[in-house]
Amino acid sequence: MSDKNPEYDFKWCPGCGDFGVRRALEQAVEKRTIELEEPIEQNVVVAGIGCSGNMVHLLEGPQPYGIHGLHGRTLPIALGVKMARPDLNVVIAAGDGDFLSIGMEHIAPQAQRNLNVCAVVMDNAVYGLTKGQGSPTASLGMVTPSTPYGKPEVSLNALRLYLAIGASYVASGISSKIKDLASLIYEGMEHPGFSIVHVQSPCTYFHNTYEQLKGNPRKGIAPLAWTIDDDHDPSDIHAAHEVVDKGGVPLGILYRDDAPVPFEDRMTEMFTRAKPRTAQELIESYAI
Ligand code: SF4
Repeated sequence: MSDKNPEYDFKWCPGCGDFGVRRALEQAVEKRTIELEEPIEQNVVVAGIGCSGNMVHLLEGPQPYGIHGLHGRTLPIALGVKMARPDLNVVIAAGDGDFLSIGMEHIAPQAQRNLNVCAVVMDNAVYGLTKGQGSPTASLGMVTPSTPYGKPEVSLNALRLYLAIGASYVASGISSKIKDLASLIYEGMEHPGFSIVHVQSPCTYFHNTYEQLKGNPRKGIAPLAWTIDDDHDPSDIHAAHEVVDKGGVPLGILYRDDAPVPFEDRMTEMFTRAKPRTAQELIESYAI
């Protein structure tokens, strides 16, 4: 429950990574509102369905606008908001199942458009809200309620996907490094184009990966997460792919297009050339 929505009876489990993502998002939005001297209502959080999607109800403090939409449909909703009100800062809060499974078909079109929104994707490799079924990022052989004999598909490499389809800002974070994550989200919001911040946000109830991500020397477990070198050039798409090639979970900005043209700029320019037509003229234009 939250101050904003006290009747909404949903709670994240203790230790859930989404708490860290929430704090990072709050910090990033707060920084933006202070720096631009804008009211918090200039920000819109569009959520999908899943534990991650409950973010929109559980944000604390001053509240942005929030929309809790349909499963997998954060991007179409964000597109609608941005087309109607290009002045608003639109942030998506989605999970790996939500964004990368049912929502997969929407990612590439927005990358091609360079829709000026920032998608924060909380990855825990399971559908936590529906009791832990394997998601696209679950690893090969992972045993879950939906894959009792082991997942027969290999894990989706989400960072590789984002780079391949042309997202103009791709960053990777982890929910336990809140300050760093807030910075990645803030930069994603400032980037004039389609930004994706992919976050490892462990599900402590169904798939607790904190130890694998951070490592445990006493058990001989090497950390999966590692920080991208300072000399990495994020404007170099080939270097970004090389970061992914190194394996594990790279942390930082993999790729950032230095000269992106956001979709709304193209649309605004097109509107200056478009001539209003009557319905009859439109129908006649399709006649062969
Ligand atoms: Fe978080 Fe998992 Fe609990 Fe959902 S089920 S709130 S993802 S720990």
